[in-house]
Amino acid sequence: MPHQKTPDNPPARLSLISRHLAPDYPINTPYAVERLPDTVDTSLLPKTQIRAISSSPTMSPQPPHPTILIPGPIEFDDAVLQSMSHYSESHVAPGFVATFGETLSMLRKLLQTTDPASQPFVLSGSGTLGWDLIAANLIEPGEDVLVLGTGYFSDGFADCLAVYGAKVTELKAAVGSRPQLPEIEKALSEKRYKAITVTHVDTSTGVLSELANLSALVRRVSPDTLVFVDGVCSVACEELDFDGWKLDGVVTASQKAIGCPAGLSISMFSGRAIKALESRKTPPASYFASMKKWLPIMQNYENKKPSYFATPSPQLVHALHTALSQILSKPLSERFARHKETSDRIKKAVADLGLKQVAPNPDDQAHGMTAIYLPETVQIPQILPSLAKRGVVFAGGIHKEIVTKYIRFGHMGVSVLDLSRGDIDRAIKALEEGLSECGYQKA
Ligand SMILES: *Cc1c(COP(=O)(O)O)cnc(C)c1O
Repeated sequence: MPHQKTPDNPPARLSLISRHLAPDYPINTPYAVERLPDTVDTSLLPKTQIRAISSSPTMSPQPPHPTILIPGPIEFDDAVLQSMSHYSESHVAPGFVATFGETLSMLRKLLQTTDPASQPFVLSGSGTLGWDLIAANLIEPGEDVLVLGTGYFSDGFADCLAVYGAKVTELKAAVGSRPQLPEIEKALSEKRYKAITVTHVDTSTGVLSELANLSALVRRVSPDTLVFVDGVCSVACEELDFDGWKLDGVVTASQKAIGCPAGLSISMFSGRAIKALESRKTPPASYFASMKKWLPIMQNYENKKPSYFATPSPQLVHALHTALSQILSKPLSERFARHKETSDRIKKAVADLGLKQVAPNPDDQAHGMTAIYLPETVQIPQILPSLAKRGVVFAGGIHKEIVTKYIRFGHMGVSVLDLSRGDIDRAIKALEEGLSECGYQKA
């Protein structure tokens, strides 16, 4: 149903729509009602669960669908999705400029930075674009970067840095672990590094890196070294204190714990990082990913001034605005605590099933996902379809050394925070039943 300008859209309503869509927006228009996909066997589900497999148990405009519990994209809230059916508007019109500006300001709160020198960026692109931003703008060709190697994603970050000419030293940890502070200290004292990079949660292993002590160590041993964090799988589900931990850059994406559809690269950089950009001897090594081009645009939007370098994605920015408004409507500490509680419950259930995690040390375990070794007798091509039949989507492995041996269970955002959905309990039960269907019995 197209939006009519008048007479049934009074001005107050219109102004709400021009920001992000109000909850009273007619919610049943954008989605066709469909059957569950054929991969789901409804005979395996109690009647009440068939409905629950769609998003919220009542009134959700989302068609019934298997619950996606992979480490991103995650299940999306109805209001976030509805924000994307915003009518088209100019990316330099006042309504959108205000929405974009507020979105950037809300990112400061999400990352816990009040330092006016901190600079948020929201660009069209996926999480990977954050690596390019750092590599093309904040490192110059020939400069040394120390990459803390935790798995597939830190390897990708290292490759990206090398593409732009950085001299990369990767300090690799054993699978399921992370480099330890004494070896990092030793590496930092052997060479002058322009930057160190750390993957806060390496989504290939479920390893959580500790940032506060790491950053303090860098400041003590090598104070000029910039600290860059890949927070794609941690921002909005793990504690992250940009100012308090003196971080120089955090890059993330829309589709993981932030709970907004994929397509936005989201980042925050410190005043030191912006200085490194401004004092480059060579121009940034990318055109679209040039922070020099985007910096004034982001500053203008936040000051509610129209500005153009390349067209942003207004519908995605509306969705991000809604997602951030929801996140910031409650204390962040509560959000992190809820993710931790749910993670503890899942990890206990995994142990009770007699299964091991890829990250064995509880201090190194992420709270928004769990990487689970399969029993030797169970293969990925059996277990994933068995879970899918029960309406639950998990991810296979991605770390090349163990790729066939484990599965990944993502637990972020609405699936954790909205208990009425029952997503987590359903997933634990599906895992139990699925393993049993694959012939596994706990020893
Ligand atoms: C998902 C992910 C990425 C890549 O993000 P894309 O949106 O797929 O480009 C990078 N780093 C980490 C830690 C991730 O989890």
